[in-house]
Amino acid sequence: MTETIGILGGGQLGRMLSVAASRLGFRTHVYEPAANPPAADVAHALTTAPYEDEAALRAFAASVDVITYEFENVPTSALDLLESLKPIRPNRKALATSQDRVAEKEFLTGLGLSVAPWHPVASAEDMAAAVKAVGARSILKTARFGYDGKGQARLRIAEDAGPAWEAMKGAPSVLEGFVDFTHEVSVIAARGLDGSVAAYDPGENVHKDGILATTTVPARLTASQRSDAVLIAARILNALDYVGVMGVELFVTTRGLLVNEIAPRVHNSGHWTQNGCAVDQFEQHIRAVVGWPLGDGSRHSDVVMENLIGDDMLRVPDIAREKNAAIHLYGKAEARPGRKMGHVNRVAVR
Ligand code: AMP
Repeated sequence: MTETIGILGGGQLGRMLSVAASRLGFRTHVYEPAANPPAADVAHALTTAPYEDEAALRAFAASVDVITYEFENVPTSALDLLESLKPIRPNRKALATSQDRVAEKEFLTGLGLSVAPWHPVASAEDMAAAVKAVGARSILKTARFGYDGKGQARLRIAEDAGPAWEAMKGAPSVLEGFVDFTHEVSVIAARGLDGSVAAYDPGENVHKDGILATTTVPARLTASQRSDAVLIAARILNALDYVGVMGVELFVTTRGLLVNEIAPRVHNSGHWTQNGCAVDQFEQHIRAVVGWPLGDGSRHSDVVMENLIGDDMLRVPDIAREKNAAIHLYGKAEARPGRKMGHVNRVAVR
C-alpha cells in the first residue's frame, strides 16, 4: 500500500501536489537540488541534493513507495537508478518523448497528429535547409531544456537565421514554422493505472513574453474542436501507456488543431481546476500514481486563472478584496521579473 509519494522537483507544482497528497492521507518526500524550494513548506520530508548524488537518490527511493515528478529535465542517470528501485509514474517513455522536441514531434506525427512544420538544426549549415523547409517566419527552439519561452529565438526574414542560431550557443535545436493560430488551448488529461482516461474541459491560454498569463474556461471552441482536443490527448496518453496527469498544448487554426507540445506532469494551464472542479489536477495526478480510481473531471464553474508573475505580487492586497477570487501563492521569497509567484482563480459564480 502506498503511504509516501516521492516527488522529483520542489517548485510550485510539487508544492500543490504535496497539498493534494496530504489531503488524501499520503505523505510526500520531495527531492530538489536547490535550497528552500516552495514545496519544502508542505512536504513531509525534503532531500536537498544534486541529481548526481547516488547515495541521496538511494535513500530517497528507500523512503517512498512510488516516484513521480513535477520537473521533466531530471538527468537520465538519476532516473536509471531510481527506476531500478521504485516505480516511476509517469513512465520513462513519456519523459524521454517530452524532453526532446525532435523525439516529441516524431512521436506526435507517428500518431497521425498535426504539428507545426519543423526541421532539426544542429549546425549553421542546417539553418539554411531549415529556413527553406519551413519558411523564414519561424521560431528556433532548443531541442532540450527549454521552458517559459527560454531557449527560443524568433526569425522574421532569412537574414535572422545566423543570429538566431548563434543565440542557441550550439545546442541542438528545431526550427518551427510560425503558426498563424487564432488562439491557443490546452487539454489537461489523466490516465489511471487501469488505463481509464479522464480529461478536463480545454482551457484557452494567453501568453505574454512566452510565459502563460491567463487560462480561461470554457475555451472558444466548437463542439467538434472540443471533442477533437480531448481525443488527441487520449490518443497521446494511451500511446505512452501513461499514468498521471499530462498537459497537451494545442494551436487552434482555421485548418484544425496542431499540437504545440506535451508536458508529462501537472500543468500551469490546469490550475483553474482547483476552483472549477471537485477533483483538481493535483488530486487527479496523486490518484493516478497511487492507483486510485480517477476522479470525475467535470467542471462546475467558469474560471479565469491569472498567473501572478514578479511584481504582480503588489496587486495581491487588492485581489484579496475581490469577490470569488481564490488566491494561491507559492511562498517564494523574492519576486524576480518573469518568476511565477502565484496565481488567482476568478470563479464565475452562477
Ligand atoms: P513553447 O515554449 O514552445 O510552448 O512556446 C511558448 C509560446 O510561444 C507558445 O505558447 C506560443 O504562444 C508561441 N509559439 C511557440 N511556437 C510557435 C509557433 N510555431 N508558431 C507561433 N507561435 C508559437
